[in-house]
Amino acid sequence: MNMNAEEKDKIYRFLFDKANIRGEIASLTDVWKTMQSHHNYPEIIRQYLGEGVAAAVLLSATLKFEGSLTIQASGDGALTLMVIECRNDFGVRGVAKYQQSLVDEMLNGLPDETDLKTLLGDGTLIITIEQFKTKERYQGIVALEGNSMADFLEAYLERSEQLETRIFLASDENSVGGLLLQQLPGQNEDDDSWERVTHLANTIKTDELLELRAKEILHRLYHEEDVRLFDSESIYFKCSCTRDKVTNMLRSISQQEASAIIKEQGNISVDCEFCGKIYQFDEIDIAGIYSKNSQPSDLSTKH
Ligand SMILES: [Zn+2]
Repeated sequence: MNMNAEEKDKIYRFLFDKANIRGEIASLTDVWKTMQSHHNYPEIIRQYLGEGVAAAVLLSATLKFEGSLTIQASGDGALTLMVIECRNDFGVRGVAKYQQSLVDEMLNGLPDETDLKTLLGDGTLIITIEQFKTKERYQGIVALEGNSMADFLEAYLERSEQLETRIFLASDENSVGGLLLQQLPGQNEDDDSWERVTHLANTIKTDELLELRAKEILHRLYHEEDVRLFDSESIYFKCSCTRDKVTNMLRSISQQEASAIIKEQGNISVDCEFCGKIYQFDEIDIAGIYSKNSQPSDLSTKH
C-alpha cells in the first residue's frame, strides 16, 4: 500500500476520552530514507536504527519547550553506538556505528533472530533532554534492560517518570513506524482500561505499523473505544551540525597533529556522520583555530 504525500513523515497524538490514556502514532518514509542516504548499513543495523528513530520521535512529543531529546545506546558488541536526536518540532537525525566483522560473525552464528541487546552487548542507554533557551540539560543513564529498544525505553520511563508506557516499533528499508501508549496519572484502581487498551495494542503487526495510516491503525485496534485523534504534525530531517561545532571539535587534537595532517593531505576534512556534509579546513583555518586570540565559541565543549 502506498501512502499519499499527506500521510508521509507524520506524527499523530490521540486520547482515550473515557480513560486516562494518551497515545501517539508516528510514521516516517522520506525522512528515514534521507537518514540512510549517506550510509550503507547492514540490514540488521538499519532495522534497529529505524526502530530507534521511531522511538525518538514518539518520546520527543512530550517535550514542553524548545529543545531536543536524544536517545543514545552503546555497548561492547557489534553495534557500538546508536544516537538519535529529535527536536520538539520533530526535526530528527540519527546515526549508528558498528563493527562490520562482528556483525558478520554474529549473523553467521545466530541468523535472523539476533535482537538489539545481543547486538549491543553490555551497555547503557542514555536519554538526554536539552532546553535550547536555557541550555539546561537533563540526562538519565540506565543499563540495557530487556531485548529491544521498546523494552529499554519502557523500563526507563517506568523508573524515571513512574508512568506505565507501552511502545511498539517497526522498521524496514522504506519506512519506520511506532505506536506509544501511556497511562496518565489519576486512573481508578478498578478501571481496566489500561489492560484492555494495551492488550489490543499487542495484536498490532509489524506490517500494519509500517503500512497503515494512523486512522486505520486506530480503527483496527480501537473501533469500540472513544478515541480523539488530533491533527498531525510533520516530521523532517534536521542536522544541527555547524562549522563552529566542528571547529571546536578540532581543538581536541593538538596543533602538531593538525599540522601533520595538513602537510600530508593538504587540508583537514571532517564529515558530519549524521548528514554527510563535509567541512574542510586549510592551513590558514588551522592557524586561526590555534592562535592565542581564538576562543571556543561554545565554552561547554572546552576541556
Ligand atoms: Zn550534519
